[in-house]
Amino acid sequence: MTTQHALYSQLPATDRLLRDARLTAVIARFGHSRTVDTLRLLQDEARAGIRADNRLPAWCDDWAQETEKRLAMADAPGLRPVINLTGTVLHTNLGRALLAQEAVEAVTQAMQTPVTLEYDLDGAGRGHRDRPLAALLCQLTGAEDACIVNNNAAAVLLMLAATASGKEVVVSRGELVEIGGAFRIPDVMAQAGCQLREVGTTNRTHDRDYAAAINDNTALLMKVHTSNYQIEGFTHAVDEAGLVRIGQERGVPVVVDLGSGSLVDLSRYGLPKEPMPQALIAAGVSLVSFSGDKLLGGPQAGIIVGKRDLIARLQRHPLKRALRADKMTLAALEATLRLYLHPETLAERLPTLRLLSRDAAAIHRQGERLLAQVAPHYPDFEVRVEECLSQPGSGSLPVDRLPGAALTFAPRDGRGAQLEALALRWRALPVPVLGRIKDGRLWLDLRCLENEAQFLEMLLK
Ligand SMILES: *Cc1c(COP(=O)(O)O)cnc(C)c1O
Repeated sequence: MTTQHALYSQLPATDRLLRDARLTAVIARFGHSRTVDTLRLLQDEARAGIRADNRLPAWCDDWAQETEKRLAMADAPGLRPVINLTGTVLHTNLGRALLAQEAVEAVTQAMQTPVTLEYDLDGAGRGHRDRPLAALLCQLTGAEDACIVNNNAAAVLLMLAATASGKEVVVSRGELVEIGGAFRIPDVMAQAGCQLREVGTTNRTHDRDYAAAINDNTALLMKVHTSNYQIEGFTHAVDEAGLVRIGQERGVPVVVDLGSGSLVDLSRYGLPKEPMPQALIAAGVSLVSFSGDKLLGGPQAGIIVGKRDLIARLQRHPLKRALRADKMTLAALEATLRLYLHPETLAERLPTLRLLSRDAAAIHRQGERLLAQVAPHYPDFEVRVEECLSQPGSGSLPVDRLPGAALTFAPRDGRGAQLEALALRWRALPVPVLGRIKDGRLWLDLRCLENEAQFLEMLLK
């Protein structure tokens, strides 16, 4: 007890602490009231420490420093820049696509000055905020009209609610996908007030399955791009053109949730092919939806292109108001889409395509260059440049892997705990460096490394 009394008496009074010259700087930076609040909190903590452990917490040596540290921590932004060397280019948890400079400038402008979001300078009364973008999307995809919402999940919900509420939507059992984050086709159907009519089997669905399911209450035939998995072996699916043929015979529109949707033929950049919205529009699909921040390389958005009358129904639906995109998204998306009007410079200007199309040999050379600088700082690890396979991510090109190179770190003493400790140390850096642990090594996939100076500054700390 006496020791506790002695310890309590060592706690400095708030007034005395506030007169400490070093706290003056803290007050100047964080304000008087927040500093006082923090000091009170620390005193409570110190008292609790005495009660529980019969000693003062270690930080009691330096109250000013601890106060500053706590306040700085509280002010650290929740969204922190990181260096993505995970090998996943479109990493959903790291914000997917990086925007092109043109898009960044367009957003900045839309944030700082009034813009003609829903204002016609010529008084022509064009109506809604998606108009300028719709014109661009029609040019790029051959569609009659377009509608923009907050993300592709919202796009699917709106398509279904506006065109098939209270009615049946026919979907193959092989396409009842879950995308992650609670987006599952059957659940979205229910939310949109539609009745899911499953046809076929997990691995095989035929024309006749769709045809037999159509009745007077059928509103749509729907196809969902199985973007994050693939069914292999004894399989059969009806393609979009086949579905359009059946739909046209029976007067039922076909809609497609494409997921990623690339507006350029990726095989031109040495990448695996991904279905393009313009091909589906040409095949006669009535509505196609896709994400803005996957392969398209723009901001988070849901894009729906298709037939004029159906898009008009989406635009009129009350959910559109709830799901609409804001001016920053629209500005970024427009600037991104404009880059597609110049395909010859696209791979340079669009970061997503630039990273996806990087040449394996060039990444390897980058690895060799970095190895020489990094390895001497990590004597406890065997550092190597190794070939690896990156992935596009976000369900785009799901089974395809892109050959590249990584810096890999293996503990010389062979202890796995060393790897965890190294990964943790890098996550604690001012700009955290994120890799992945696999096969007893920590891999820093270099595909997405463009800012080498920043990377070296962090790793050589
Ligand atoms: C990614 C994806 C979605 C969801 O798109 P978000 O833009 O993330 O909302 C829906 N359907 C498919 C097929 C997808 O790949």
